[in-house]
Amino acid sequence: MATKMAFAQCRKHDPASKPHVAVVGAGLSGLRCADVLLQHGFKVTIIEARSRIGGRLHQERLPNGHLVDVGPNWIHGTAENPILDLANQTKTTTSRWDVNSYVFDESGVLFPVDQGEKYAGAMWDIIQEAFKHSNRHGSETDGNKSLADFFREKVAERFPDSETDFERQRQIVLLMSELWGAFVGSPISRQSLKFFWLEECIEGGKDPMEKPLHPSSLPSCMHICATCG
Ligand SMILES: Cc1cc2nc3c(=O)[nH]c(=O)nc-3n(C[C@H](O)[C@H](O)[C@H](O)COP(=O)(O)OP(=O)(O)OC[C@H]3O[C@@H](n4cnc5c(N)ncnc54)[C@H](O)[C@@H]3O)c2cc1C
Repeated sequence: MATKMAFAQCRKHDPASKPHVAVVGAGLSGLRCADVLLQHGFKVTIIEARSRIGGRLHQERLPNGHLVDVGPNWIHGTAENPILDLANQTKTTTSRWDVNSYVFDESGVLFPVDQGEKYAGAMWDIIQEAFKHSNRHGSETDGNKSLADFFREKVAERFPDSETDFERQRQIVLLMSELWGAFVGSPISRQSLKFFWLEECIEGGKDPMEKPLHPSSLPSCMHICATCG
């Protein structure tokens, strides 16, 4: 409505004019905003501080050649999610959450799928246990005890000394547990177990989550940039 009114106001003075709007930031919000403005006939200039578009949505290539997401990579909840509509419009390949986990070791070598599943399963199970534990025993839990401490206890239970290669298996799951820190924005050694239950997870409820498999949203970004000229 506001865009239509601004447009009408401009045209009152010069019917041939195209209102010119500056959008600050070429992250997902800025790019989408520019896209909507362009669709309504505005002229748009995007001002971006970095030398690339995408904002937090970004991918890097590792020395071993793998392309990794360093920012968002999940579409949470796919029912009526406009991001999924964009992925479909741009023919971005996506995959469902419930496919196998592919886990790579520190040097970039892929574990056999069953092993990767085992480690990923252990990591997510321990996160769930931590939520339950914090919920039930938060009041009597030492405030200095971290999620990382909880992980160390739990991997020792899951991979007891009697198991072959137990130290390596514990180490793999502990390395993977650092992923949770990246998700929520602070290392798990700084996340208090006592207050872990307060962590709000974005979930899609019953709706599945999808993972874009194509280099992130480049088709839509390209489209907008081409239109902006
Ligand atoms: C590690 C990580 C994982 C995430 N995972 C997910 C996920 O799986 N699914 C999900 O839905 N969300 C996820 N998110 C959240 C998601 O990244 C953000 O919600 C989204 O990218 C925000 O987009 P934005 O355009 O609002 O901001 P940004 O992406 O931050 O874009 C802002 C842009 O504005 C530019 N800018 C800022 N100030 C100026 C200025 N003064 N002048 C010019 N340019 C300026 C910046 O350089 C940047 O390019 C994740 C975030 C992180 C960090």
